[in-house]
Amino acid sequence: MAQLVVVAENALLPGETHPRPAKLTVDLESGRIRNVQDGIVDIEDKDGVEILRVTDEDVLLPGLIDCHVHLNQPGRTDWEGFQTGTLAAISGGVTTLIDMPLNSIPPTTTVAHLNEKREEARRVGMSCDLGFWGGIIPGNSSELRGLLKEGVKGFKCFLIESGVEEFPCVGEEDLLEACNALEGTNALILFHAELDSSPSQSDTNSCEHPERYSTFLRSRPPALELDALSLILRFAKQFPSLRFHIVHLSASSALPVIQHAREEGMQNLTVETCFHYLTLSSEDIPENRTEYKCCPPIRDEVNRQALLQGVRDGIIDFVVSDHSPCTPELKKGDFLSAWGGVSSLGLGLQLLWTELGGQGQQDLPWGRIVDLLCARQAKQVGIDDRKGGLAIGKDADFVIFSPKQATHLEQSHLNFKNKMSPYVGKRLNGSVKATYIRGQQVWDGSQGKALDPKRGHFI
Ligand SMILES: [Zn+2]
Repeated sequence: MAQLVVVAENALLPGETHPRPAKLTVDLESGRIRNVQDGIVDIEDKDGVEILRVTDEDVLLPGLIDCHVHLNQPGRTDWEGFQTGTLAAISGGVTTLIDMPLNSIPPTTTVAHLNEKREEARRVGMSCDLGFWGGIIPGNSSELRGLLKEGVKGFKCFLIESGVEEFPCVGEEDLLEACNALEGTNALILFHAELDSSPSQSDTNSCEHPERYSTFLRSRPPALELDALSLILRFAKQFPSLRFHIVHLSASSALPVIQHAREEGMQNLTVETCFHYLTLSSEDIPENRTEYKCCPPIRDEVNRQALLQGVRDGIIDFVVSDHSPCTPELKKGDFLSAWGGVSSLGLGLQLLWTELGGQGQQDLPWGRIVDLLCARQAKQVGIDDRKGGLAIGKDADFVIFSPKQATHLEQSHLNFKNKMSPYVGKRLNGSVKATYIRGQQVWDGSQGKALDPKRGHFI
């Protein structure tokens, strides 16, 4: 039987403090890891055995997961698409994406819509594995169990306008209806956690200086996130048979509230933040640079430092991109008029590595970075039997990462469709040399190209 044997001087398993030598045997027929051995074991060349040596300069990591991306196909394929989005993923070592239900037309709010999306993805092909979130909108509660049965990983909803009319936000009654429909299923409900319960708290009337980031920032204060959080906590208490998740947390003032709820015994609440909240600060955003605009907004440096501490302390469960692109036309103009969304698909490993991957006291052990980008997300979406580690029986999805290399990020390095990102011009540490899915190389970092652009499966 055809085999691939990967011999690595440095292999990093989620949660481990240091890389260690390891030998991985991959069954190429099934694409799964057949064996993992500690240390470099002598191997002889045998027929039918391919050997891949990962040298001392590089580190072998499990394939990464990004649970929060907007691929927008069908319907807004000029914003992104299955092909370009999954290509950007593998270029950054991400081997599994979970696509958000909105910004595509139709949104993933019915089984028929889910099938339409899958059909489209199947037609154009995808470079990495792909799963789908469903959506909760007013009036679709009768679809939710069907969507779950068809394999969606959970359901996203908005407590404030989403920005697209085909995905309206829910009120408490809609949410109650949805939770009642899902009760007992252990389903995961994701919240865009901003709630404008008293419109006076956000300074929306101040439209002076729309070119300044501070004007936009004032219109989305942390109070919106805190108000949403208190509603979510109420629901999490009321529905212990469901799981509740806060997507893209930006306001660090929510962290003690979340921690307190957990200390009081709440076990069905998780929270993610995004690369941009951990790496960018509002003070540094130049006028009219709308590629930095997203909701909730990037806040100040004090907030950023507190979020980083939330990651170190383990209050924040994992980190995602929330890659939410659009066309250049929609990013034109000022901070109040431009579309909100940051594009960073595939840059996450380099971003976290640059921010937290050194050897200083404030840095994280390498294995924890892998945990945030991989194992925890696999568990969250229930694919940890196949994904999120280098272990016997899992898919042989892995990455060869060069931690000592650095990139001055240029627009031409971006592999997603619309090449706008706040990170262009910045220096990023580390680079992805190669990405493998089910034992086959799909990305060659030295040439900057995909080798097997239709390798992805649905997951
Ligand atoms: Zn999003």
